[in-house]
Amino acid sequence: MTIYNLGSVNADLVYRVPHLPGPGETLGAASLTHGLGGKGANMSVAAARAAARVVHIGAVGADGAWMVERLLEYGVDTRNIATVSETSGHAIIAVDDAGENLILIHGGANRAVPEAALDAALADAGPGDTFLTQNETNAQVAAARRAKARGCRIAYAAAPFDAAAVTEMLPFIDLLVLNAVEAEQLVAATGKDLGSLGVDDVVVTRGGEGARWIDARGGEVTDVPALPVSAVDTTGAGDTFTGYLVAGLDRGMPMRQALNLASRAAALMVTRSGTADVIPDLKEIEESRL
Ligand code: ADP
Repeated sequence: MTIYNLGSVNADLVYRVPHLPGPGETLGAASLTHGLGGKGANMSVAAARAAARVVHIGAVGADGAWMVERLLEYGVDTRNIATVSETSGHAIIAVDDAGENLILIHGGANRAVPEAALDAALADAGPGDTFLTQNETNAQVAAARRAKARGCRIAYAAAPFDAAAVTEMLPFIDLLVLNAVEAEQLVAATGKDLGSLGVDDVVVTRGGEGARWIDARGGEVTDVPALPVSAVDTTGAGDTFTGYLVAGLDRGMPMRQALNLASRAAALMVTRSGTADVIPDLKEIEESRL
């Protein structure tokens, strides 16, 4: 079936610096690399690399054509990525010699997805399809409402955490994915435990400790261990995990099997530097023997 992902598309501008700049400091960067990122784009690429059919819904500025082309090259249907008057979303990432980073994000076009285009974007969506979203765009609730009315399963990654946004999304969600910090924030914000949110499946990713699936229907909790790898760069691990999980479920895998696939993909991802451009495909996961 199809995964419709309403999500951000960001240019990741990664500057290597001798140390992170302090207030008022001007610092020369040793190098600059341009990559494709944004939680939305990362998840679309991960799901496509997991062999799912993925329709990305989003927006870029006139400066974002290269990102749309790259998504297309990676196998994502980009026909519902609008070009708007705002500048494209981007992240300025400074990384120092010790691997510490400093990140500045400009949402830009990601926050200007035309709501009027949602009906057209979801025109072919129906039962068996999945609608996926995160918190880096506008229009999540409007799109989830439309997708739910069409019978889609709704998957949501509550990142970056925003209590108001998550609370508004809760009534629509079938699958909620969040990391351990976001899970604590959600429990604090709602005063409810994760099994009592009215969401059937909740998956908490816990970095090197693996992931926990809370099946709210039966109240059962299942832990899936992380695979042993030496971590080089954990950026994008959560997005890779979510994209693969949703793709596995879309292919009809039982939850445990989809969680195992997602864990293997995310483990291989943390051995690589970069974001969307380096998300592993199924063949690479097989060959890695993870
Ligand atoms: P986020 O990047 O959203 O904060 P996590 O850090 O929880 O998400 O990582 C997501 C998933 O990536 C984990 O559930 C795990 O499967 C995998 N992962 C993350 N860090 C490691 C690691 N050090 N070793 C192996 N797997 C990891």
